[in-house]
Amino acid sequence: MGFNVAIDGPAGAGKSTIAKRLAKELGFVYVDTGAMYRAIGLYMLKNSVDGSDEAAVSEAVKNVEVTLSYDDGVQCVYLNGEDVSGMIRTEEVSALASQISAYQAVREKLLDLQRTMAKNNDVLMDGRDIGTTILPNADVKIYLTASVETRAKRRYDEYIAKGQTCDLAEIEEDIKTRDHNDMTRKISPLKKADDAIEVDSSNMNIDEVVETIKNICKEKM
Ligand code: C5P
Repeated sequence: MGFNVAIDGPAGAGKSTIAKRLAKELGFVYVDTGAMYRAIGLYMLKNSVDGSDEAAVSEAVKNVEVTLSYDDGVQCVYLNGEDVSGMIRTEEVSALASQISAYQAVREKLLDLQRTMAKNNDVLMDGRDIGTTILPNADVKIYLTASVETRAKRRYDEYIAKGQTCDLAEIEEDIKTRDHNDMTRKISPLKKADDAIEVDSSNMNIDEVVETIKNICKEKM
């Protein structure tokens, strides 16, 4: 068993930015589980499967194989052998991923892959249910959160930096909807594990969050 760090939290709390940097500093493998759900979402999109139809999605997911590889520490996600790492970063895929991640068949599909990664490597895994369901015995569990306003403003700034136009109020609404979906679904809802340490990044910059979580990990190592 490797040393396992679980980082869970809502969309936009900064999980992936933090986890990526921390994994590099600690020499751990970074596992972005959201990318796996996004890959399955992309499959449904490409094959015109209605994301709200659980039976159809559960049937279609049987034809999906998600695999990972690492290129200089950067995770690449493959959908039936095709590198889809770039294609999954759209709002459309993100919304679909959130929808289909509520289904048992989808979650089961990814469970083994996630646990195997953690068994064979020192990992820093980010997601929604890592500390509660996937790695209940993780060495360190972090619940990374931030206020809705902060998360919306960060997303907004990212889009603006990329030269895209967007509306702050709309982003805030999207985040609220996604939080609601993720926190209220029946299977593996997003919630802080009892033994997770909560870190609220609302008033912290990236360096401060990385430092805080690194210190928590170092104490345990
Ligand atoms: O983290 P990211 O925004 O890429 O995740 C996309 C969607 O995948 C989330 O909105 C969530 O519904 C789902 N997800 C999940 N469990 C995880 C990781 C992501 O349900 N462990």
